[in-house]
Amino acid sequence: MLRKAVRSYGGILANPAAVLQAARAMGSAASAFGGIPRETADTVVIGAGVVGIAVARELALKGREVLVVEAASTFGTGTSSRNSEVIHAGIYYPSKSLKASLCVKGRELLYRYCCDREIPHKKIGKLIVATSVAEIPMLEHLLRCGKENGVEDLKMMEEFQAMQMEPELQCVKALLSPSSGIVDSHLLMLSLVGEAESYKTTFSYNSAVIGGHLEDSLLHLHITESEDLKNVAKDAQLSPQFVLTPRLVINSAGLSAIPLAKRFDGFNKEILPAAYYSRGCYFTLSKTKIPPFSHLIYPIPEDGGLGVHVTLDLNGLVKFGPDVEWIECVDDISCFTNRFDYSVRLDRSDKFYPEIRKYFPNLRDGSLEPGYSGIRPKLCGRGMPSMDFVIQGEDIHGVPGLVNLLGIESPGLTSSLAIAQYIASKYSK
Ligand SMILES: Cc1cc2nc3c(=O)[nH]c(=O)nc-3n(C[C@H](O)[C@H](O)[C@H](O)COP(=O)(O)OP(=O)(O)OC[C@H]3O[C@@H](n4cnc5c(N)ncnc54)[C@H](O)[C@@H]3O)c2cc1C
Repeated sequence: MLRKAVRSYGGILANPAAVLQAARAMGSAASAFGGIPRETADTVVIGAGVVGIAVARELALKGREVLVVEAASTFGTGTSSRNSEVIHAGIYYPSKSLKASLCVKGRELLYRYCCDREIPHKKIGKLIVATSVAEIPMLEHLLRCGKENGVEDLKMMEEFQAMQMEPELQCVKALLSPSSGIVDSHLLMLSLVGEAESYKTTFSYNSAVIGGHLEDSLLHLHITESEDLKNVAKDAQLSPQFVLTPRLVINSAGLSAIPLAKRFDGFNKEILPAAYYSRGCYFTLSKTKIPPFSHLIYPIPEDGGLGVHVTLDLNGLVKFGPDVEWIECVDDISCFTNRFDYSVRLDRSDKFYPEIRKYFPNLRDGSLEPGYSGIRPKLCGRGMPSMDFVIQGEDIHGVPGLVNLLGIESPGLTSSLAIAQYIASKYSK
């Protein structure tokens, strides 16, 4: 399937037999892959999450021939389908950071994109709440931060004003963000995939990039069918089914982006930040005909996350989460095939009730049911200062045509279209 996808893609693929012959005549790196077919390509995007898909679409719109290599059997099965589906306004991030600028721009692009294509979304607004006087300075800090980032419509609300808007809410003050909203992330991805395909992007599913090597200063990707990784021991030597040499590679492998880049032989690993992983679980509110809230309700952010907040989806389902649980990384091969533990145990809700009751005192005992979980690809661990998105091109690591997208945690969904434009304008000449 993988070879077929590559062959059917664009026009510039070299004849595999000729490439193989040339490879045999080459130096040491080539002979190490003697017998393994090679292909060339214009652009390869590794990973079909919302960011990879958005980048593939943008590059295809700009006229590039794009192949998306995805280890799973379809698009969007990683973090992109395990999040809050919130369109963030751009409040929390340090000014001039990539997170701030790409979130604010991405939010505008996303609302416009969803309106134009009738993708379900709603600008329902959000209240960030201080539940004690001690938290008010943090709320004021967020107001300043949001304004610096260009979020123009924030409004500080007194307790009675917030509770007029949300009678079930308990708080001492709140920050209203009218431009926050929710989106059906799956239909968003479906639309982006459809458009990318109509601009001749090819998606090769069940295909894992297992590493690469530098040869003639270009990155050569090692690719295999994901099926072959199923029963492989975690420290096994992997051998590719074939080697693909693109002119432009976007490493958008989400949780795997750093472990994968570490498998690029000849790449300066010191340039890679450390990878940390933090699981966030969601619980849903059972037996509720009418949602208790009509806005998103967020507490003051905590270390590693935005706090256990209230999210509504477009069907009116009320979700609480995600919490923060620092986890060990799985080995890199398991990472490529997304073998993380996503289970949500009921006893975990013991920690949710007191957190939620700080702002929703009427939450009934026994009303929380396990929902789902997602894992944040973080660049900082417990207690460390938060980190910005890291986008590394040749200017940073010296390898022509390679772009690494690292630490694309929240607000990655909101920022996806802006990240795509950023990459197309900076790295696709
Ligand atoms: C709990 C949680 C809540 C969040 N809430 C929000 C929110 O409300 N709003 C918001 O804006 N953002 C939110 N985010 C962030 C957002 O979900 C992510 O930033 C975004 O989904 C990242 O997309 P991605 O394409 O980079 O990664 P992913 O969706 O993880 O996609 C990466 C893809 O790469 C594939 N892959 C991995 N390794 C390989 C390999 N070796 N070869 C080939 N393919 C490979 C994977 O299978 C996967 O499909 C949240 C994140 C979490 C964890």
